[in-house]
Amino acid sequence: MLTDPTGKKVTRRTATPAIMVRKAGVRMTRQRRAVIEVLLQSYDHPTAAQIYERAKEILPGISLATVYNCIESLAAQRLINQLHFDNGPCRFCPNVEPHVHVMDDASNRVIDVQLKEGLTPEDVFELPEGVRVKSMEAYLRGEIPENCMSEKEK
Ligand SMILES: [Zn+2]
Repeated sequence: MLTDPTGKKVTRRTATPAIMVRKAGVRMTRQRRAVIEVLLQSYDHPTAAQIYERAKEILPGISLATVYNCIESLAAQRLINQLHFDNGPCRFCPNVEPHVHVMDDASNRVIDVQLKEGLTPEDVFELPEGVRVKSMEAYLRGEIPENCMSEKEK
């Protein structure tokens, strides 16, 4: 779980570049701040190339290699999720709360969805005796109506 310096739980809405950098155990740089700001503001699960394009708007001199390095260190520390859909490049999600991803077959748009209130993975899946779920990664595919927003975009 991501927490702030006082130990309070950090959600996507309360995460800051300073908290992310501290958790990743790396030094704050202008480049890292730009990449993390882009990630925290992006609800569309961008690719590394899209993050690079957006980071350049904040910091024009930033290099693609720097963006990749920053993303990789955040993903390695599980501060962002790396999504591997089989039909394209990796995409990234800074939503640190348990959730799964739904991809629209036609547009490749991806939204976050949470388990219904009060449900746990154990309630939903036929898990073998003794299996304990510690984290959840699932990809669902289908149709997402145009006007449907991710829980976090609302
Ligand atoms: Zn997500």
